[in-house]
Amino acid sequence: MGDSKYVMAIDQGTTSCRALIFNENCEVIEMAQKEFTQYFPSEGWVEHDANEIWDTQIEVIKTVLDKADLNPNDITTIGITNQRETTLVWNKDTGEPIGKAIVWQDRRTSDYCDSIRDEWKDTIKKKTGLIIDAYFSGSKIKWLLDNTPGAKEAASNGKLLFGTMETWLIWKLTGGESHVTDMSNASRTMIFNIVTQTWDEELMNLMKVPANMLPDVKENMDDFGITQSSVFGASIPINGAAGDQQSALFGQMCLEPGSAKNTYGTGCFLVTNTGSEIIESKNQMLSTIGWKIKGEITYALEGSVFVAGAIVQWLRDSLGLLDDAAESEAMATSVENNGGVYLVPALTGLGAPHWDQDARGTILGLTRGSTKNHIVRAALEGIAYQVADVIKAMEADLGFEMKELKVDGGATNNEFLMKFQAAISDTPVIVAANQESTALGAAMLAGLYAGVWSGFDDLKSKMAAGKVYAEDALKIDREKLLKGWNAAIKRSLSK
Ligand code: ADP
Repeated sequence: MGDSKYVMAIDQGTTSCRALIFNENCEVIEMAQKEFTQYFPSEGWVEHDANEIWDTQIEVIKTVLDKADLNPNDITTIGITNQRETTLVWNKDTGEPIGKAIVWQDRRTSDYCDSIRDEWKDTIKKKTGLIIDAYFSGSKIKWLLDNTPGAKEAASNGKLLFGTMETWLIWKLTGGESHVTDMSNASRTMIFNIVTQTWDEELMNLMKVPANMLPDVKENMDDFGITQSSVFGASIPINGAAGDQQSALFGQMCLEPGSAKNTYGTGCFLVTNTGSEIIESKNQMLSTIGWKIKGEITYALEGSVFVAGAIVQWLRDSLGLLDDAAESEAMATSVENNGGVYLVPALTGLGAPHWDQDARGTILGLTRGSTKNHIVRAALEGIAYQVADVIKAMEADLGFEMKELKVDGGATNNEFLMKFQAAISDTPVIVAANQESTALGAAMLAGLYAGVWSGFDDLKSKMAAGKVYAEDALKIDREKLLKGWNAAIKRSLSK
C-alpha cells in the first residue's frame, strides 16, 4: 500500500461495535459494524457481556481490514472511542469479568444515589462536575462489589480491576499489559476529581472503591500500549482514546471555547467546549473534561436529552404510524404546521435542563382536525424544542449566545428537523460532512500523536464543509410555538 498512512478507529458503542479505517485526508475508506446482545434482566436494568463485546470488536476489526484489503501492519495507529460510564470489573489473573457490565442506562443504583444526595451533592458537583445519578460509574462499581460473592475481599487483595469499555478493550488488546483510561472517560465515574485531575480519595472511600482497582489516567493523545501481535496479527500502538461525546466534539473540531456540537441519535448530547475554565452550571448542565492534550486541559459543559430519534422509533414500532424513520420528514411537511399539537418525548423521564426521572410523555392539543401527520410533525418538533431548551440553559451558563451549532448523528438526515431546529433556536445549524464524527475524533487523536497529522490546523484543512441551515430556513411564529411547548412541558413534569 506504498507510503500511505492509515488510522484505525475502534468505536465501541451501546448497541454495536464498529471499526473504521481513515486515510490521511480524514476520509473513511472502510467500515465494519456488528451488533451485540442487550440484556434486560430486571426492570430498569441493562447489561452487556464484556467477552461478547471483545469477540465482536475483534471480528469487526478483522472484517474492516479485509474489506479495505489492508494488512494489520498497514495501520499506523489506533484510536478508541466508547460508550461512556458502562462499568466492568474483572479478575486480573484469569481475565474473567466477575459479572456482566452494568450499562450507563441501568437504573439499579438510583436508590443509593438518592440516599447520598442531600449530604454529598455539593461536594460531588464541586469535585466531579456531575449531578449525583445512577448514570455514572461510581455507584455501579459499588454495586458489583457489594453484590458479587467474594468480590470485596478480592478487590482489597488487589485481584480485581475496574474499567469502562475502552479500558477493557485496551487491556485485552495489549494482552493485559495496559490498565489505563483517559481523562474524558475518567471524568464520568463520579470518583474522579476534575479540578486536580486525579482519582478522589474521599469519593473512593464513600463508594468503597479500593485504589488498586483503578486504571492509570492518561491524556487523550498518549501511549496507551501496543497491541499484542497474537491478537490480530501486528503490534500497533494505541495512541488516542476518548468517550463518545467528547470524541465527537473533537471530531467536529470544536476546539475553541464556546464552540458546540449536538449529536442526534437515540438521544441528543449537546456539548460545548469551555476551554481551561470549569463553568459551574446554574442550569443543571454537567461539567466534564473534554480532553487533555500536551498538558493542556479543556473542559466542557454537557446537556443530554434522553429521547430524541427514539421517539421516531416509538411512532414506528409502538404506534405503527410509519414504516421507516425517514418517512417522518414527508409526513411532517405534508401539513402546513403542527395544528396546535405538541408531543413531549419524555418516555424515560426528562434530562437536562429538567432532570425529572418521573416525567412522562405527553401529546397535547388534539382536535377533530388532527391527523397522524400532525403527531409525527409534533414528535420531530419535540426533538428540536428539547435541544432548544438545552441551548438556552447552556447559553445562560456561558453568558453569551452560541453563534452556530455543529451537528451529527442519524436524525440529521431529516432536513425538516434541521430547518426547524435552526428556526426555533434562532441559531444556524451545520451538519457535519463526515457523519462519523465520533470515530473521526478518536482517529484524529491517535493520528496526531503518531504524526500522521501535524497539528490542529492540518486537521481543520482536511475537514469538508458541512451543510448549513440558516435561522430563517423555515418561517415560524417562534414565540407562539415556544409558549405552546412550555405549556406541554409543564403537563409532562411529575411535580
Ligand atoms: P445511535 O447511534 O444512538 O444508535 P444513530 O445516530 O444511528 O443513533 O441515529 C438513529 C436514530 O435516528 C434513531 O432513533 C432513528 O429513529 C433516528 N432517525 C434516523 N433517520 C431519521 C430521519 N430521517 N428522521 C428522523 N429520525 C431519524
